[in-house]
Amino acid sequence: MRPLSVEDPEIAAAIHAELERQRNTIILIASENYASRAVMEAQSCVMTNKYAEGYPGKRYYRGTAFVDVAEELARERCQKLFGAEHVNVQPHSGTQANMAAYFAVLKPGDTIMGMNLAHGGHLSHGSPVNFSGRMYNIVPYNVTREKEMLDYAEMAEIARKNKPQLIVVGASSYPRIIDFKVVREIADEVGALVMADIAHIAGLCAVGAHPSPVPYSDIITTTTHKTLRGPRGAVIMCKEELAQAIDRSVFPGTQGGPFMQAIAAKAVAFKEAMTPEFRDYQFQIVRNARALAERLTENKFDLVSGGTDNHLMMVKLLKEGITGKLADETLERAGITLNKNMIHFDPATPFVTSGIRIGTPCVTTRGMKEQQMVEIADMISTVLHDIKNEETAKAVRVQAKELCDQFPLYPDLTC
Ligand code: PLP
Repeated sequence: MRPLSVEDPEIAAAIHAELERQRNTIILIASENYASRAVMEAQSCVMTNKYAEGYPGKRYYRGTAFVDVAEELARERCQKLFGAEHVNVQPHSGTQANMAAYFAVLKPGDTIMGMNLAHGGHLSHGSPVNFSGRMYNIVPYNVTREKEMLDYAEMAEIARKNKPQLIVVGASSYPRIIDFKVVREIADEVGALVMADIAHIAGLCAVGAHPSPVPYSDIITTTTHKTLRGPRGAVIMCKEELAQAIDRSVFPGTQGGPFMQAIAAKAVAFKEAMTPEFRDYQFQIVRNARALAERLTENKFDLVSGGTDNHLMMVKLLKEGITGKLADETLERAGITLNKNMIHFDPATPFVTSGIRIGTPCVTTRGMKEQQMVEIADMISTVLHDIKNEETAKAVRVQAKELCDQFPLYPDLTC
């Protein structure tokens, strides 16, 4: 029972270095966030030791009284937060939540309509390299070439032609509002179920900074670690009539013992998400994204769809002749971490890409506001407009560190 620093100094050092990286760089990865101290405490607690196959009150193991308390609280709080009829808080990840959801309502070979990965969808929405693309007949829908936004009329046409059993709506890199109501209407016309994967926008949906999918979806999946700012993991919400099928599909269908420490941490995150501070935080994420997008546009960059309504934006670098890969590598050396991303109709490969994705959840958690977004947009612009000059990247790194120092992260944490 020795402390980590004594037991395993190599891992302790890596964790400490990661803390310093998070503190000292501007993180703009749209799918990341900084969990609260309380969430992290719960996530590394003794509940990691407990097996609890089954559900509260109906376990296959003894000694589950206290983990039952955690799971009940997580379920109740999530239900209240989103206004969902039923919640399963056991999925280990977003992809596993999606797998369990598909298994609950589909047979292998059934047809899923999902957003094309190259147009902003997620791997688990039907990519051929993912289980979803291998097990189901996938009919992708796209954004339009002109507006680079979803075209619901085209979506309806594809649905009429292909009669999917399930329409999956939700994205990993789509900067605009999703109209869940229209998707429901399309699904009803062809007799399909609707699954909303709100992994990216869950925090926004919880407080009304993005319209909620709950009234219009049969199933909703989300990760808990992005805008929702909880521990790494996921949940599934659904209509009452699907509750049993979803629960069975998670356990014993696709998972064994739940990660009770993660479930306890999810409960903490849902409690935090019901506070007025969390609501303000989500609206600030959106205001920050808009400010950053506007400044990048003033600095002559082209944004996919011309801007953003949510927490992220995509910058097209075709005009500048810079690949996403070169941009994210150089920006990392300048103290700014973001990721390369395919843009719609991208001529480059997924490993190279012609764009970058920028999100504001992390910097907003640090307390940054619109003024800092303008500064960050200018730092990005300086680096990208002088991409071959390593001195420029070095100078911006100093600026980035200065900005980070003004908004300290985890000040009391030592590792
Ligand atoms: N769904 C969407 C829309 C996502 O963006 C992601 C992850 O980025 C996932 C699902 C998968 O989550 P995980 O990485 O936890 O499997």
